[in-house]
Amino acid sequence: MGSPAGFARILRAPGKTTVDHFDHRDGRLHCEHVPLDALAAEVGTPAFVYSASTIRDHASRLHEAFASLDPLICYAAKANSNLAVLELLAKEGCGFDIVSGGELARVLLAGGDPAKVVFSGVGKTEEEMDAAIRAGVLMFNVESEEELDVLGAVATRLELDAGVAIRVNPDVDPKTHRYITTGKKENKFGVDLERGEALARRAVAHPRLVLRGIQCHIGSQITDVKPFAEAVERTRDLALRLKPDAPDLAYLDMGGGYGIFYKDENAPSLKDYADVIEPVVKDCGLQLVMEPGRLIVGNAGVMLTRVLYNKTSGKRRFVIVDAGMNDLIRPSLYEGYHRIWPVTGEPPPPLGEEGDGDLVDVVGPVCESGDFFAVDRPLPVVTRGDLIAVMSVGAYAAVMGSNYNDRPRPPEVLVDGDRFAVVRERETHADMMRKERPDATYRSLGTSEGAST
Ligand SMILES: *Cc1c(COP(=O)(O)O)cnc(C)c1O
Repeated sequence: MGSPAGFARILRAPGKTTVDHFDHRDGRLHCEHVPLDALAAEVGTPAFVYSASTIRDHASRLHEAFASLDPLICYAAKANSNLAVLELLAKEGCGFDIVSGGELARVLLAGGDPAKVVFSGVGKTEEEMDAAIRAGVLMFNVESEEELDVLGAVATRLELDAGVAIRVNPDVDPKTHRYITTGKKENKFGVDLERGEALARRAVAHPRLVLRGIQCHIGSQITDVKPFAEAVERTRDLALRLKPDAPDLAYLDMGGGYGIFYKDENAPSLKDYADVIEPVVKDCGLQLVMEPGRLIVGNAGVMLTRVLYNKTSGKRRFVIVDAGMNDLIRPSLYEGYHRIWPVTGEPPPPLGEEGDGDLVDVVGPVCESGDFFAVDRPLPVVTRGDLIAVMSVGAYAAVMGSNYNDRPRPPEVLVDGDRFAVVRERETHADMMRKERPDATYRSLGTSEGAST
C-alpha cells in the first residue's frame, strides 16, 4: 500500500520497521492531510489522534514481509481496542488476539471473524470461556494445567469443542523492560516446554478439546530478532514432536512483541524478522500465527495537549500541560519514552536526535509526582496555550486511561486522508458519575435490590 505523496514520516528511520503518516510541513504537524492545530481547535485537548493509513500500512506490510508463509495476523486488541480501530483491521482481513470477555465483545461488535480469534491470558474465567466457545473462537492459548481442565469442563458442559493452543515458555531473554518480559522461565506466563508437551497430550486426549496450536509470546517492545528466532525454533520443535499424535495441530503461534521506534531504538525491519523466522517455519507443515499489537498501532497515534503553565522550581523547569498520567501512563509505568514537540513552528529534530532547546520536565496536572511525560527534555520555548504533540501513543495509551483525579477520558479521533472522525467522544462529568449511587440504599444479603430493611 503506497503512502500519500510528500510524507516525510518524522518517526521513520530509513529501512526500518515502522512507518507513519505524521509529517511536519508548512510549519504544522499533520496527521495524513489534516493539520493538527486545526483539529485540536475542533475537538479540544487533550485528544488522541490516530492515522488510519498508518494502521492499514503496518498490517499490510507485515503480511507482505511474511508473504511466503501467508501468516494469520491476529492483532492484539489490548494495544488499542477502540471499536473503529478493530473494525478497520477486521476489514483488512486481520484476526484478533484477545485477553478478556470484554475484548471478545468488542471484536464481535466490530465485525471480527471469530474463526480468526485467539484467546490469551493467564486468568480466563469460566464465563469468558463459555462466551468464547459459543462464539466459535479458533483457539484458547492455555497457560496452565488447571486452566486446561476448567476449559475442558466448560466445553463438555456446552457439548461443544474448544480449540486449544498450549502457551509455552521457551525460556529466552528478550532483553526488554522487566515489566514486559514474559518468556523467561520464572514469570507467570505459559508453561515450560516439558510441561507444555504433557499438557498438549492431555488436550489431545480430551473428548471436547482440540489441540490446534503451540504458542509462545516472549515479551513486548523487543528490538532484537535473535530471541524470536530461538523461541520460534523451540516452539516449532515441540509442535513437530506432537504432530504425529495430534491430527488437528495446524498452527504455530509466535505471539507479538515486535519493537517499534519511540526514540532511537535499533528496531529491526519487518524483513529482518522475516529473514530469521521464515527458514524456521517454512515447510514445517504448520501455519504461522502472529499476534502483533504495538507494531500495528504504536506509531499510528499522537496525543495533543496544551500548555497550561510554565513554572520554575529551584533549578528545574516545568512545562505543565492539560493531559495527565491518567491519559497516558507509559512514562510513569514503564519509563516509556515518547517524543514530544510543539505542533506548530520549527519541525522536530530527526529521529534519534533531541534538538537543543532548554531542558524541561513536561508534566501533567494530576496530584502525583509520577505524573510526567518527559524529564530533562530539550524543548523549544512554549507558552500558555501552545499545542504540543506526544508521539507514538497509538498502543497501550488510551486503553490504559483512567479517571484518576476525576479527569474525563479524552476523545479518540481517527484520521483517514483529509477527513477525520471522532471515534470516541470526550467523557463528561456525568459519564464519570453515572454508575454511582449516592443515596446508598442498603439491603441485607439475600434480599432483593431496593427492599428496605
Ligand atoms: C500483549 C500481547 C501481545 C501483543 O504484544 P505487542 O508487544 O503489543 O506486540 C500478543 N500476544 C499476547 C499473548 C500478549 O499478551
